[in-house]
Amino acid sequence: MVIKKYIIKKIGAETGKTVAVFCGVHGNEKAGVYAVTEVLKNIKIKKGIVYFVYANPEAIKKNVRLVRKNLNRCFLKNNRGKTLEDKRARQLMKILDQCDGLLDLHASNVEKATPFVICEKHSYKLAEIFDVGIVSSGWDRIELGATDGYMNKRKGAVSVGIECGYAGESRKNKQLAKKSILQFLQFFGCINQKVNFSKRKQKIIDVIKAIKKKTDDFYFTKKRIDFTPLKAGEIIAYDSGKKYVAGKNECIIFANASKKIGEEAFIVGKNK
Ligand SMILES: [Zn+2]
Repeated sequence: MVIKKYIIKKIGAETGKTVAVFCGVHGNEKAGVYAVTEVLKNIKIKKGIVYFVYANPEAIKKNVRLVRKNLNRCFLKNNRGKTLEDKRARQLMKILDQCDGLLDLHASNVEKATPFVICEKHSYKLAEIFDVGIVSSGWDRIELGATDGYMNKRKGAVSVGIECGYAGESRKNKQLAKKSILQFLQFFGCINQKVNFSKRKQKIIDVIKAIKKKTDDFYFTKKRIDFTPLKAGEIIAYDSGKKYVAGKNECIIFANASKKIGEEAFIVGKNK
């Protein structure tokens, strides 16, 4: 796949909202990259302005999550960093500053990952149009510098991230990403094409904390699938002598014991 241009601006004949569709913020998460490439082949923007953005071109080319730094932690107003990702984030923040809405397409590095939406309460109306069964909130508190967190700081702007399933199945998950792009564009009145909005009931999960790995002697008591409810009191993981126990109505997300020390081993969510 050859991508010729990494920021594509499409202007409709009528005035309307300005929105952005991001993919490849993490370069190995290809569902969104494939979907944006396909959508661009024949999309007609009727109203407003749409930016299609391949967010981290170098990482996309190399098929890696990041080159120097996690781009999704670089969207900070006072960012003065020198890495490729810092520079890119500064460039992309200028685009986001013009936008009323953002759709940011990601994928999970965990096998069998369930697709889910990341957004805050003010974007629930947007989140419910997607064919995704779980909506999770609270990420802004624990993960500073993400694209959606940056958008959420501005009054009136809405943003959703969609985790389109396992990154190792990007060809298959492209369909969900593609449908989501069209639903998103229709929501803002940017296209004529009719796409049905999802009517499925969504479960709302509040993300409450990120647990970092402290030692190399870290392991989970069993294989965990994202968002599967835990029993209160159940032991989730051990980190040397320390044990992590589930609280009431909790679940875990992005469980990964092979992370480096100091990195996130898992996220704890709570069923609302
Ligand atoms: Zn990602």
